[in-house]
Amino acid sequence: MDNVKKELLGLFPEELAAEMKTLGLPAFRAGQIFSWLHKGAGFDEMTNLSKELREKLKMQYIDQPVTVLSQKRSQLDDTCKLLYAMGDGNCVEGVLMHYHHGYTLCLSTQVGCRMGCAFCASTLEGCVRNLTAAEMMGEVLCASKMIPGDHISNLVLMGSGEPLDNYDEVMRFLRLVSHEKGLNIGLRHISLSTCGLVPKMYELAEEKLPVTLSLSLHAPNDDIRKQLMPVAKAYKMEDVLKACRNYIDKTGRRVIFEYALVDKLNSLPEHAAELASRLRGMQCHVNVIPLNSVEENALKGCDERAINRFMQELSDRHISVTRRREMGDDIDGACGQLRRKHLKGQEDAK
Ligand code: SAH
Repeated sequence: MDNVKKELLGLFPEELAAEMKTLGLPAFRAGQIFSWLHKGAGFDEMTNLSKELREKLKMQYIDQPVTVLSQKRSQLDDTCKLLYAMGDGNCVEGVLMHYHHGYTLCLSTQVGCRMGCAFCASTLEGCVRNLTAAEMMGEVLCASKMIPGDHISNLVLMGSGEPLDNYDEVMRFLRLVSHEKGLNIGLRHISLSTCGLVPKMYELAEEKLPVTLSLSLHAPNDDIRKQLMPVAKAYKMEDVLKACRNYIDKTGRRVIFEYALVDKLNSLPEHAAELASRLRGMQCHVNVIPLNSVEENALKGCDERAINRFMQELSDRHISVTRRREMGDDIDGACGQLRRKHLKGQEDAK
């Protein structure tokens, strides 16, 4: 199709200026358009452009590629779960969380995911497609509109998808969302979570982007990790940890290890001891996650006692550890669950 419209939200200011030049527009107009787009405005709202120009832009380009399909606000806390629609009808989800230090948005990087982790709802139907940088910007801008007068200060790339499996668009997104002429969200306030695609972790360390790397470890050794995460068959834990050490050396930033506790499988005191021995001496932090139960799999989370015992074992061995706060428990806060309900609803309606 040659009538595919270009997404302007995915362009850097200089690229947008070059694109607008093809329409005969001067650089300052491109600057105005960049600024509007990054405030979440559509062409119709760009009031300092002539009506004629706005119509022309509309014919050739997409302004905001994402809309909010539905939202659910938690009764327990101020968490808001969002379901976004893309231009082609695909949908992804996000979670907007209100902490005392401000708002954090959890965003998706792919429609679905092809990593196949046993506990995760996002991966059940595989990966449909990558999101573009413009669409990821769209997620942030839509969520920002939910909190007028306030702003999102932190981002976590922990929604559906594997960010390092959509490397180029995610890098473009990180540079766009932190751009001083746009939302200007500090890279230090952004966490990128990966299941551990080793070669891409080395590439990321060279990008000179001071984002926090979160590594989904979920196991103290390869045997257990392979039972939960197919990616463990491709990359040994030893090599994943080596790539983490390289990231720490290159960026000076500590790595966060995500560890979802599954009843008996990875949550016994001996597992904590083994984990501690493998992480010894590393500038890192362990984030223990109580498993969110997912209807489609049989994995069970741990009771409070087991969670506390696991954490205690780690801290006794001088590993810094905290528990991820559970938010939006009443609104399917877990990764991929809202989209699945939406897709199921469409199936049932057929
Ligand atoms: N693909 C990336 C980012 C998306 S998942 C990654 O693997 O890190 C974000 C985090 O949520 C990961 O740590 C993932 O392992 C975790 N997660 C997914 N499903 C979960 C569930 N049902 N319960 C607890 N944590 C889950």
